[in-house]
Amino acid sequence: MPSTFFDQPGGKVRLEQISAEPPKGMTREKAEPLLVELGEELFALQDEMFASKASSVLVVLQGRDTAGKDGTIKHVAGYLNPRGVSVVSFGVPTTEQREHDFLWRVHRHAPRLGEFAIFNRSHYEDVLVVRVHDLVPKNLWKARYEHIADFEALLAEHGTIVLKYFLHITKREQKERLLEREKDPANAWKLNPTDWKERDCWDEYTEAYQDAIAKTAAKHAPWTVVPANAKWYRNLVIAESIVEALRTHRKDWRNKLEQVAADAKAALTAYRRQRKK
Ligand code: AMP
Ligand code: MG
Repeated sequence: MPSTFFDQPGGKVRLEQISAEPPKGMTREKAEPLLVELGEELFALQDEMFASKASSVLVVLQGRDTAGKDGTIKHVAGYLNPRGVSVVSFGVPTTEQREHDFLWRVHRHAPRLGEFAIFNRSHYEDVLVVRVHDLVPKNLWKARYEHIADFEALLAEHGTIVLKYFLHITKREQKERLLEREKDPANAWKLNPTDWKERDCWDEYTEAYQDAIAKTAAKHAPWTVVPANAKWYRNLVIAESIVEALRTHRKDWRNKLEQVAADAKAALTAYRRQRKK
């Protein structure tokens, strides 16, 4: 089985070798209660992180149209306490944004300590759609992989846990979802001819994604290719991955919270002693 987890730069990513389907034996009936449990753990972890202010989390969701970025926000981020979460969608840049460097509009949305930021599309569009449609000269977008790697290293240095997900669907699944949108009145507002135009560039996007993942995978900012043809499995994989990444920090957060509590108690004791005098 080819790996779906990339945490080293410079590897090879072959998306067509990675299945977009859930593994054999995994069913919706098994997945759904697991997701609920993970959701509860996620909520608890978030609480400790929020209180400790020792880390923050940046979740980057990338994928083709209909891959499920919005669905993931609803079903996975929905477990989080909204107090500490911001969700930011990155669309076509405004004139003001285009007149700045490509990270200008992104950096201000990086999460502050204690909080989550969830990016629906991200700075990666600047090496994806921009590359596929030649929106800037090649030498400019080529230089961006390094800028992105440096940017994410900077965030990580500041305590941000950077987690990047490529929601992997097949071309056939996308067609079904696009046609489904036309039939479903509740989803018809999402209809957009650009989706069909972008679909014509399927292979160019595959190459652009493979390069983006390979060049920017890092220990402190790993990519996961998420089999996303089944929505329930996609949600499970992403929830599990976020929870696993956060668990490794729980001890540090607790230590910091104990320290903060001990300092607060000492301050309170000193205050009371002072008052008695
Ligand atoms: P949606 O995610 O359906 O709201 O669509 C957002 C659109 O904005 C997509 O077609 C993206 O390709 C496009 N987009 C996002 N970032 C950029 C960018 N930096 N340059 C050009 N187009 C972008
Ligand atoms: Mg769209």
